[in-house]
This record gives sequence, C-alpha cells and structure tokens, in this order.
Amino acid sequence: MDYRSFFKRSLDRLKEEGGYRVFTDILRSASDNPKAMHFKKDGTQQDVTVWCSNDYLGMSQNPDVIKTTIAALQNVGVGSGGTRNISGTSHYHVLLEEELASLHKKEAGLLFTSGYVSNEASLSTLGSKLENCVFLSDERNHSSIIQGIRHSGAEKIIFKHNNVADLREKLIGIDIDRPKIIVFEAVYSMDGTISPMNEYCDLADEFNAMTYLDEVHAVGLYGKTGGGISEELGVAERIDIIEGTLSKTFGVTGGYITGSAELVDFVRSFAASFIFTTSLPPALMAGALKSIQHLRQSEAERAQFRTNVTLVKNELAGRGIPFENTRSHIVPIIIGDPKLCFSVAQDLLNNHSTYVQPINFPTVPKGSERLRVTVMPQHTPEMITNLGQALQIVWEKYGLPFEESQMVG
Ligand code: PLP
Repeated sequence: MDYRSFFKRSLDRLKEEGGYRVFTDILRSASDNPKAMHFKKDGTQQDVTVWCSNDYLGMSQNPDVIKTTIAALQNVGVGSGGTRNISGTSHYHVLLEEELASLHKKEAGLLFTSGYVSNEASLSTLGSKLENCVFLSDERNHSSIIQGIRHSGAEKIIFKHNNVADLREKLIGIDIDRPKIIVFEAVYSMDGTISPMNEYCDLADEFNAMTYLDEVHAVGLYGKTGGGISEELGVAERIDIIEGTLSKTFGVTGGYITGSAELVDFVRSFAASFIFTTSLPPALMAGALKSIQHLRQSEAERAQFRTNVTLVKNELAGRGIPFENTRSHIVPIIIGDPKLCFSVAQDLLNNHSTYVQPINFPTVPKGSERLRVTVMPQHTPEMITNLGQALQIVWEKYGLPFEESQMVG
C-alpha cells in the first residue's frame, strides 16, 4: 500500500470536485472588531473586514468578558488539570452549568468540550441506552447530530426540513410505546430557516416522544434574555433537551445540554466523551459565565445587531444581489457552483478586503454552494455599503444574475 499516493489521489479528487477547503489565515482585532489582519500565502499582510464570523455579537472581544477571563486566569491558571471526575470540576464549571439551566428554564445543565461534542455525546448516549429507541431527525440537521445518531446505533427516520405534516406522518407509523426522540435545530445555520418548534412539541405530546433542540445559532441572539428561539416562542419548558454552544454568540468555547435533573445526570454518567476527557479551562468558563450574564440583562447588542441585519439585507436587495430572505440573521447568497463560489470569495478577499468564506458540499448540498454573510453589531454603515459595492462589482465581473430590488422590513 502506497499510503502517501492514496492521500494525494483523494485530495486531488476533492480539489477537482471543488470541495477542497482553503483556510484563511487571520488575526482578528479586539480593539477594532470586525477588522482583521489577513496573512496572505505570498507572505504579505492585508487589513480585511470579517463578514462570516459566528461571534455574532462580538462578545469574544467584549471588554468585561476579557477582563473577567484574565482575572480568573491569573487566579486559577490555564488548564483545568483533569477530567470532570478527577480534579477538573472547577467552581466556574458548576456556576456556569447552573446559569445555563436557568437560562433555558431547566433543572440542570452539563458542559462539554464543544457544541459538536455535546450533540454527539448526548444523542449517542440516549440512542444507545434507551432500548429500541428511534430518532426522527430533520433532513438538514448538523453533522454533529448526524454523527451522534449514527454512533448510537439506533434507527433513524429523516423528516423533510421544517415539515410538520411529514413528521406527523412518520410518527403515525411508530408504536406509541416505543422510545422516540424528535431532533431539530432552532435556526438552520446555512439557510437561516427557523423550525416550527411549538408544533413539534404538540406532536411529541400526541405521540409520546422526547424533543431535542439544538439552539447553537440562536442562543444569546433571540429571546428576551438570550435563551434562543425557544425563549422567543415561549416554548422552552415544553422541550426536553436544549443543547447549545458557548462558542458563537457567547464568544468563548464549549458546548452544553440542559434538561431535567435525571436526564442530565444520566448523560453525565454514561457519555464517554463527557467523562474521558479533560474539562474546559476554568478561566474560559468564568468568561463564558460573564458573557451569558451580560446578555441576559442587556438588549443593546441584540438591538444593534437586528438593525444591522436589516441594513445589510436592504443593501443587497437595493443592488439586486440575490439572497435567501428569512426571518433570521443568516444571509445566504447562493452561487450554486463550488469553483465559482470559491473564485468569488477569493476576489472579494483579495481585491475588496471583504472576508466571506465560501460554503461548499458537504456542509450544504451540491449545487447550492454559497456565500454565508453574517452581520455583527460592530459593522458600521460604511462597512455595509462597502460590502454591497464589492458584491456588485464581483457580480458584474463574473456575470452572476441580479435580481429585482426588494427592500426588507
Ligand atoms: N450544532 C450546529 C447546528 C452547528 O452549526 C455547530 C457548529 O457550527 C455545532 C452544533 C457545533 O458547535 P461548536 O462549534 O461549539 O462545536
């Protein structure tokens, strides 16, 4: 076996298909968000504006979060020094789990090393331990959900995206006494669509199912205190498990689930990827706690964020740049060809100092390759105009189709 040529052949094929990922080497600026320094392959540097960060409210660079993290770092050191079971449960972890439970109106919370791990660990544990369990999973659910379900070994039934009637049809065919878990996201990160979770809860009641909600792209952003879409719709208490991340709107790192005391204790006790790994750095947990507490009582960031989302959508609409206009903050601009999508993004970066990462298969289906623009409260009106201008120039250069102008909200 020639291992090296096997790897090379596989990568060449990926490049040929246009699915090869090229990372953009940057340093973001805490004093000048959302600006960053781009370290180009030719050794030169370039100032860019970031238009694709999931640090949606800029909390990773919030002065209070930074101050709190530094203070904790100086008090307790860098690493946690152990797994949660063996010396790695710092008091910050405990306080943060209590805060997350309270945010989502649940009895308990549990931290994982990332949002990905929280989905993978929780779903694989529930599906493998609940005898004869069946998952009902939205067709656009995230890779971490797909992997968690796969690793559980349990049966999986896929329902059409956000389609209540299709889910109902699938539920009708399952024995009422069989354990079943309906799994869905709040905001679908690549499309911006929002799930009909009230209706899902009605179905869960009718068919005796559990509900599992991924709030990763909504927590901190939606709801009066940042509890996500489930808070905004007043449905949090009806959902059995709410999963989320500390790495996007809360600006730090780590993932979590919240739920009943028994359920959380169950996952805590049986999930291998919770137990057999060193816990997250305590100082980061102190920073995450500060970030959540801040966003529970401050609406200012969310208000400016919403204003900027509308400004960006109107900027694009006014110039005829086609985008998927959903109720959420995500602005997907479908290009539909991986190589073209990559070239457009490279042009925006190199010639217009505008950093938008191209999104290709398997993150999105083939033929729907896109730019995914994300907005921050720190984007200025001038930056928004520059984004529109850059897109218009690049659209003309590549002969991409324009759309009739349509103002938003
Ligand atoms: N769930 C969804 C829907 C996501 O989009 C992501 C990451 O992008 C995750 C979970 C994983 O979260 P994390 O980045 O904290 O691992």
